Amino acid sequence: MIDCIFCKIVDGVTHAEITHQAEEIIVFKSIQPRAPVHLLIIPKKHVLSIKELTEEDRNLTSSLIYTAKEVAEREHLPGYRLAFNVGRAGGQVINHLHLHLLGGWKDGELTEV
Ligand code: 5GP
Ligand code: ZN
Repeated sequence: MIDCIFCKIVDGVTHAEITHQAEEIIVFKSIQPRAPVHLLIIPKKHVLSIKELTEEDRNLTSSLIYTAKEVAEREHLPGYRLAFNVGRAGGQVINHLHLHLLGGWKDGELTEV
């Protein structure tokens, strides 16, 4: 088994607060939230990052974004931020592709990118 914390969450070996499960994707709460709502949307498949995507992963990445939209609706978020950190130089710490869904700020709380 690959020594990957997110694969362990997918396999149920490591606990996480999972909020959504689909065929290819799971969604769970970040252990260190950077926003009132901070969810991670990940493929069950171990893909390292956006840099390592292949042609066959095209549909998978659209599914991640579409899942983010569905989850945001369910969470009643009027607006939100989606982010991929790509590679260590892009702030990526966990080497298993994940889409950050951040939201739930009060008016005036959100700083611009
Ligand atoms: P990155 O910096 O790699 O883009 O983001 C990694 C994200 O994973 C961060 O939001 C971090 O808090 C979250 N994270 C890291 N380890 C764990 C863990 O063991 N469980 C959960 N639920 N989130 C984690
Ligand atoms: Zn993994």
